[in-house]
Amino acid sequence: MLKGKVALITGSVRGIGKAISLCFAKAGADIVINYTSDSSEVEAKKLVEELEQMGVKVLAIKADVSKSEEAKALITEAIKSFGKLDILVNNAGITKDMLLLRMTEQEFDKVIEVNLKGIFNCTKEASRAMMKTGGSIINMTSVVGLSGNAGQSNYAASKAGVIGFTKSVAKEFAGKKLRVNAIAPGFINTDMTNVLTDKVKEDIMRNIPMKRFGSSDEVAKVALFLASDLSSYVTGEVIRVDGGMAM
Ligand code: NAP
Repeated sequence: MLKGKVALITGSVRGIGKAISLCFAKAGADIVINYTSDSSEVEAKKLVEELEQMGVKVLAIKADVSKSEEAKALITEAIKSFGKLDILVNNAGITKDMLLLRMTEQEFDKVIEVNLKGIFNCTKEASRAMMKTGGSIINMTSVVGLSGNAGQSNYAASKAGVIGFTKSVAKEFAGKKLRVNAIAPGFINTDMTNVLTDKVKEDIMRNIPMKRFGSSDEVAKVALFLASDLSSYVTGEVIRVDGGMAM
């Protein structure tokens, strides 16, 4: 489904981003993976080998998407190496959960910088090239951006911002064959959610009609739909992958 395409996935050595990289490689795309921490170097090398064994070309780039110069360098290097960019998945994201009255300004700013400004940085740079060739941009939001969540005002604000950003940019590029959509996962088993206590997990489970948490692969399959021609007439859409949690 993605043979001959080049895909860049931010924050992709772990969790949902890693699953998307593997899924896109299986579909034939050449892959650019990205990470930001020194502690992810080893995992990045392992993932490069795993992806190469699938017969596709792979490049790993360390960059902090919240820093405009690093985001710019990430996109530039990807396009320089592969000659083009067909698919951008803005997946990198963080949480710094705290009730509003105890939340520091730094905790608020950091989450907005990575989750929202990071998407602005990468999309702005990538769309310059992608508007000439067409393509698909997929932004990772969250059901929390639709419904809000106590203890996550910074994260929910960033993810609601991603939805507004997605729809606006989708309108700007609709005439250029560049589609822009968002995925809103519910509770997906990754490092991000593993840190939650059993009590919190039980409370969340009560609100999931399908009575189970999701997997990164289940998010990746929706990303594959949005990246491929199967969704050729879909833009400005937000697809929930949440077992019915936010309906
Ligand atoms: P994760 O396991 O914590 O992985 C996050 C990834 O983002 C890591 O690879 C990390 O890089 C990268 N990252 C963080 N800050 C970055 C930065 N400034 N620049 C570049 N990369 C950065 O998270 P996940 O659960 O897979 O979540 C992926 C996305 O889905 C996020 O946007 C998250 O908000 C969203 N989401 C997740 C869930 C869920 O239940 N898990 C639900 C809704 C939405 P390093 O490895 O270098 O640290």
